[in-house]
Amino acid sequence: MRNFQPILKEIYASATNLKDKGTVASYIPELAIVDKQNFGIHLRTVDGHEYAIGDYNKPFSIQSISKVLSLTMATSLVGNKILKRVNVEPSGHPFNQLALLEIENGIPRNPFINAGAMVIADILVSRLQNPKEDFLNFVREITNDISIHFNESVAYSEKVTGFKNYAAANLLKSFGNLENDVDVVLDFYFHQCSIEMTCSQLSKAFYLFANKGKCLRNVLHLTESQVKRINALMLTCGFYDEAGEFAFEVGLPGKSGVGGGIVALLPHDFIITTWSPGLNINGNSKLGMQALEEFTTKTQLSIF
Ligand code: GLN
Repeated sequence: MRNFQPILKEIYASATNLKDKGTVASYIPELAIVDKQNFGIHLRTVDGHEYAIGDYNKPFSIQSISKVLSLTMATSLVGNKILKRVNVEPSGHPFNQLALLEIENGIPRNPFINAGAMVIADILVSRLQNPKEDFLNFVREITNDISIHFNESVAYSEKVTGFKNYAAANLLKSFGNLENDVDVVLDFYFHQCSIEMTCSQLSKAFYLFANKGKCLRNVLHLTESQVKRINALMLTCGFYDEAGEFAFEVGLPGKSGVGGGIVALLPHDFIITTWSPGLNINGNSKLGMQALEEFTTKTQLSIF
């Protein structure tokens, strides 16, 4: 058995020593009040071992990390039909950019930019009986943890300040790429982003991507090919205009969120989750990026 604890200790120490811890997202007012000193790392191996350090058991806003989970649920419900309404190319632009969406006639570049995630949200709203509740239960089931919840204040905070997201949703609607009302889709989207989870819960939720599509408690089974595709999307689009940099420096499929979380994984081997709320200019966690770079450099564990 490999012991990852010493390496987690090492990367934790060098990341927390950094003077510049990045900037907490302030465009969602509720996120601006989170303490920048928080930092946690959690690693779960496919064969069930866990290693962790720091604030790995504190819940935080998963934000865009939820886009992988909504895509997973939509894939399990409608399969490849999703690809008619959303593309699979990296955007090379920020997650909330609007220009490309207009130029490309309302077909978002990929499911992980905001507009793409709204199309996925629209699919779920159309398919589910009680969309928000059913999605939350799906996340609870794949994580095997019923304590996971929405943070209503974060969802509300984003709703009252989310002018750009309203613009994106209206653009999608104008191109006929939303079936449901803009307000209904955004209400679902803001809630999915507001879900709070800990590093250790996220490592569990992402277990299926390292385990050929089988989650912890066999409640869902994606095919190996579906999982391979979602991992490919995480690698190419998981970090917006920093996706190339993440592949270059870290070399793992992964997903970030403006709450400061990052989940990354090596198929068939492990899932590693970091949380530090301070972000770099591209909206990705500063300490998390650095810690993961150091982790894969020192262990030589990457997909390349
Ligand atoms: N809820 C955030 C937004 O829509 C998610 C962005 C992110 O985490 N990158 O702006």
